[in-house]
This record gives sequence, structure tokens and C-alpha cells, in this order.
Amino acid sequence: MIAAAARRLADILERIETAEISAGREPGSVTLIAVSKTFEADEIAPVLAAGQRVFGENRVQEAQHKWPGLREKYPDVELHLIGPLQSNKAKDAVALFDVIHTIDRDKIARVIAAEMAAQGRTPRLLVQVNTGAEPQKAGVAPEETAAFVARCRDEHGLQIDGLMCIPPAEDVAAPHFALLQRIAEELSLPLLSMGMSADFETAVEFGATHVRVGTAIFGTRPKPPAA
Ligand SMILES: *Cc1c(COP(=O)(O)O)cnc(C)c1O
Repeated sequence: MIAAAARRLADILERIETAEISAGREPGSVTLIAVSKTFEADEIAPVLAAGQRVFGENRVQEAQHKWPGLREKYPDVELHLIGPLQSNKAKDAVALFDVIHTIDRDKIARVIAAEMAAQGRTPRLLVQVNTGAEPQKAGVAPEETAAFVARCRDEHGLQIDGLMCIPPAEDVAAPHFALLQRIAEELSLPLLSMGMSADFETAVEFGATHVRVGTAIFGTRPKPPAA
């Protein structure tokens, strides 16, 4: 199993490079975020040993259990929060994560700004966009993204570096990636977090700078992820 995860990691990195080349992009311009949610430290260790350093988790509390120990051995790990953020978890999130992908409302922007000031930490921040306008899904509406990014900057003092989306599971992903790319271009935001196990190559075609791949590296998750 240890060898399997390392082999799958190598395969994904190769497929990313092929997608970069066929999209006319610089090889190495896309960062792979290995999504380790629901997997235990001993299942993550072989992927670290294989050289992967960028990981994504969707729950603050779960990441707090697993990562401080792993980081002792691999201090250069970069951790990304890709799941919804509650304001009572903002303090822990700012303390633990290097990049937060899910800024999506003023209340969160305000508490994140306060925690960054209090802790003297500056995680990079992305705004989650609900490209499918799904009522149950987090994220700002596409047409409200510009105003929200401006409020983050002007009212909350936060620099937003990019956008993230999770297309509706039943949709073809490409139009969602194209929409996110267009909004990011309009707002001159450099980072685009999009694409998962099933569609990361398409995301690379549409300019993803970060793809979030879980099952294609770690295998099927033991339990369904909390939303
Ligand atoms: C779980 C998750 C992923 C990874 O999904 P896979 O289909 O396992 O690759 C990517 N992004 C987010 C936000 C997730 O919660």
C-alpha cells in the first residue's frame, strides 16, 4: 500500500506535466495539493517520503490532530485549508494553515483579519466562488465576487490572491473552470484553485495554478468527507 500511494503520486505528477505541456503552459507551473482528509498520519507518511510537500485538509480539527506531528519530521510542508471555515475555528486555522481557500463572507474575512494581526501570521487567502449557484454550497456568487474581493481589501485589510471553486458534481466541469478563470482575470488575481481527481487535467487547460487531488493519490476515502 505504501508503494501504491507513491506510485499513484508519480502518475498524477506526470499527468499534470502532460496537461501543462498540451495547454502550452510551463511545466511545473501547476502545484499539486495532495488532499489527505480522512487519511491517518501513517497513510500520509509514504506520500511525504515520496517527496510531496503540499497537502490539503478540509477540517481544521482533523488537521490539528495529524499535522503537528508530521511537520516535526517535514518542517517544509505547506498546508492548505480547502474546506468551509467557521468563525470559531479561525484562530486555529490561521495558526496551522499556509493557504486558506475558503474565504466567502464578511464575517469570516473580519475574524481572519483579526487573527492574522493577533498572531502575526499571513496565510495566503483565496475566495471560494459558488460557480454553480448551489444553495447548499459555500462560496460567493460569481456576480458578487468583485465586490467581495474589494471589501476584503478595503474594509478588512486582506489581500486576496486568488479564487477557488468546486463545480457541481453532476455538471461538466469545464464551463465552471472557464467562469472562474474569467473572473480571476478580470480581478487580476494570480491564483486559481480548481480541479480534483476526476477533472484536474481539464482545470490545467483552463489555467489552474493549484489542483486538489485526493482519491487518485490516497485511494477511496474510508468515510464520506464532511461537507
Ligand atoms: C475532498 C476534496 C478534494 C479532493 O477530491 P478527490 O475527488 O478525492 O480528488 C478537492 N477539493 C475539495 C474542496 C475537497 O473537499
